Amino acid sequence: MNSLECPKASLARRLNNFSGSVARDILSRTQNKEIISFAGGLPDASLWEDLVLPTVPPAAYQYGPSEGEMPLRQIMADRASAFGLDAEASRTLITSGSQQGLDLAAKLVIEPGTPVLVEAPTYLAALQVFQLFEADIQSLPLDTEGIDAAVLDRYLEQTKAPLAYLNPSFQNPSGCCYSLERRREIAEVLDRHATILLEDDPYRDLSYESDAPPPIASFLKNTPWIYLSSVSKTLIPGLRLGSLICSEELFPSLLKLKQAADLHSNRPAQFIATELLSDAQKNAERIEKLRSHYQQKRDLMESTLRADFKSLADWKKPSGGMFFWLTLKDRVDLSETLEECLKQNVAFMPGSPFFAHKNDHPCCIRLNFSLVSREKLENGTRVISRVIKSQSGY
Ligand code: PMP
Repeated sequence: MNSLECPKASLARRLNNFSGSVARDILSRTQNKEIISFAGGLPDASLWEDLVLPTVPPAAYQYGPSEGEMPLRQIMADRASAFGLDAEASRTLITSGSQQGLDLAAKLVIEPGTPVLVEAPTYLAALQVFQLFEADIQSLPLDTEGIDAAVLDRYLEQTKAPLAYLNPSFQNPSGCCYSLERRREIAEVLDRHATILLEDDPYRDLSYESDAPPPIASFLKNTPWIYLSSVSKTLIPGLRLGSLICSEELFPSLLKLKQAADLHSNRPAQFIATELLSDAQKNAERIEKLRSHYQQKRDLMESTLRADFKSLADWKKPSGGMFFWLTLKDRVDLSETLEECLKQNVAFMPGSPFFAHKNDHPCCIRLNFSLVSREKLENGTRVISRVIKSQSGY
């Protein structure tokens, strides 16, 4: 045994089938400045140039409440109420990114073998969390309006799954935005089966055509729900702050899980976020600027893809969020594509990690359009399309 190796028997069984994040591996390989990376879900840092960060008062260096700072809880609850959720600051928890919300929700519900319903494709780091808790992950395909409510109904009838994880507004990775009708139908099905809804909504503000319809959780009548938001996509991800709002019966248990996880989220970061978000008018202007900036990038990406990828892939122009999701017409080995692209200083995300079941899904790639500068966007997509063309014998 190598001195750095741990005897397997001393580690928790949950690590046996637990894989590291492909996305974070790629991210660590794309740190050099030269690289054109479509791989992550990173905001454009140029948008922060005129952001003036407040000075943190020493009082914020002290330990604080596990729920989070009340002014920030109020801001997050007010924002959610404004788009229709039954939200109250008293049921709002400030989390260390919405990623922690996924972790707390998983701890709340999942035992080894618990069936959990997700979309196909779905957010890869949610899959990672559910795998960690040894869920029996089942996925339902997305069409252009979301998952099919009748299929969901049949699935829940069979499995009695206690948890459904959905990312219905400008989904990562597909960009799908569930229609109003679909949201209502799904809420009705979840209510009927008393399935807890875990709704992940970090991209809601990044809409480029019309606002996303109200959250699915806002249509629920009796089943418990957890609604996650984040400041990562619209403010600064390095603050590592999100919010978890839930129905009343879940809050005490989630609060205990938060206490055990990290006592509370970073207080200086909470202070900064509160200061930056408390002026509603200024915040609305900032989001508007962000939307128009990303909308232009999305449009540029669409025209670039039309020129380079038309014969290679199908996609739907996303009406919000940060990603294009391309389904390749011919199957190629995307790990080979990625290695070749990385040699040419371009990165993207292969689609496979976004599927719970790795074997029977289409050959897809995810391209982020928020990070790369307009000047580099065209060159980058051209490299990827050339590599795919050479692999598929064009
Ligand atoms: N959910 C989804 C769907 C995401 O895309 C992300 C970030 N990529 C997260 C949750 C986590 O975001 P954060 O922890 O930065 O709030």
